[in-house]
Amino acid sequence: MDYYGCSRTKRRRIKAKAAEHLQMLEDLHAKNQVSSNLECVTELNSQIPSEQWDTQTQACWSESGQESDSGMFFSDSSEELNLDGSAERTNPFNDLKRKLAYWAPNHNISQSALSELLHILVQSELDLPRDPRTLLSTLTTCDVNDIGDGSYYHFRVSNAIISLLSHESDPSTDTLTLCVNIDGLPLFRSSKMELWPILAKIEELPRSNVIIIGLYAGPTKPNSVEDYLYDFIKDLKVVTNEGLHYNGKHYNIALPDAFICDAPARAFLKCTKGHSGYNSCERCTEHGIRMDNKVVFPDLKAPVRTDEQFTDMIDEEHHHGVSPLQELGIGMVSSFVLDCMHLVCLGNVRKLVSLWIKGPLRCRISATTMSIISNHLKSIRKHLPSNFSRKPRFLMEYGQWKATEFRQFLLYMGPAVLQGRLPTRLYNNFMLLSVAMRILLSPALCSEYCDYADKLLKCYVTNFVKIYGSEHVVYNTHNLIHLADDERKFGALDSVSCFPFENYLGTLKRLVRRPQNPLQ
Ligand SMILES: [Zn+2]
Repeated sequence: MDYYGCSRTKRRRIKAKAAEHLQMLEDLHAKNQVSSNLECVTELNSQIPSEQWDTQTQACWSESGQESDSGMFFSDSSEELNLDGSAERTNPFNDLKRKLAYWAPNHNISQSALSELLHILVQSELDLPRDPRTLLSTLTTCDVNDIGDGSYYHFRVSNAIISLLSHESDPSTDTLTLCVNIDGLPLFRSSKMELWPILAKIEELPRSNVIIIGLYAGPTKPNSVEDYLYDFIKDLKVVTNEGLHYNGKHYNIALPDAFICDAPARAFLKCTKGHSGYNSCERCTEHGIRMDNKVVFPDLKAPVRTDEQFTDMIDEEHHHGVSPLQELGIGMVSSFVLDCMHLVCLGNVRKLVSLWIKGPLRCRISATTMSIISNHLKSIRKHLPSNFSRKPRFLMEYGQWKATEFRQFLLYMGPAVLQGRLPTRLYNNFMLLSVAMRILLSPALCSEYCDYADKLLKCYVTNFVKIYGSEHVVYNTHNLIHLADDERKFGALDSVSCFPFENYLGTLKRLVRRPQNPLQ
């Protein structure tokens, strides 16, 4: 009975969703406001990571477009960016197909649920395919390159940028600079399969979407950074030399200004020692010392590293190879951002909370205090504006907190809920970090008060050593003293954080349906 009950409920839900979409389509037609084909194609780009989008769209461009300086064909007209051709554009069923093909992966609808929906719609005499693979134009083959134990697909820098430009209404700039993000993403709990996408944003279009340039899938991270980056570097050299034409305008593409990654990914890309190495600080030459089975960096006055010193490999202990990115001539020290999402939110704030809960007795808070703080956090939940993506959780659940929750705690809730509950010197130390980060993250405050924030962070680390002990000044804590340098180069740190990329990784992960051939 349960089975049939569930089945009926599922069917009702699918029917209701289908009716909702049909109604939406009818309304759109009635008002003659059907979205342009360009919108459909560019939306598909962000949802369909296979070459299905890539090749079909490019084919349409090639048929009707004009040759650009770089030898690639791009259309000047949004009308021609049509997956099905103009003859079919007026057919409402083709619009329905397109909408469904977009809707299904966007809402993570399973193949079986989509198949059931199509059968229902076909029975209602709608002209739709019965097989979800036909609707989604699922390819039977996909041309990927084998790299070590995994495989890689390159989407091309120019295609990614054009898909982004098609969302923008004539950008005022004619030079576009990439901010690149590379990070690993575990796919399943039951296997070691990982995705390593190469993502980017355009610095001149800060509100634009994240674009995907390349995608690796394998049982571990790529074995060879040279093989992994080969297509990307080769492609980048072409596009930065020749630029690209789109919509009658020539764009110069500048070399990536910022690589926004977490510490392990930065070490992988730069071929340097990992964050647990003695010479792992990327910004100064401090040689760490081993305490309590950890490498710590209590000295705050070591000489800084420069791009030139990195290229000349002056500190041999810092490197374990030559990074292929050096071919591009980018600043191998200054272009690699100390991402505040990993460094501050998931690094330092989490560390502070863990020290208060299970650190040395001299800085641990009592169970009663913890309960009072947690209850205060709970009471905030119902008054929280909708701008905050997550409601605060209990302090003892910090192990499950997301980066955005640590950020909310540092900037907004922490100063209020900890006041009068944390010992004064611990609270004052927390406030040094909170105020400094508020300044560095705020576009309105960062340039005027950057030096002040720099002093606050150095003061925070110095006091941190006195309060919690040198054995806790690990890589993340030490790197706070270098954080203001990134503001001086890139502006407010929110513009160069991993937060938008992390959201995109979540979307990417949901698009993988089965462990077999995750890349395809
Ligand atoms: Zn350092």
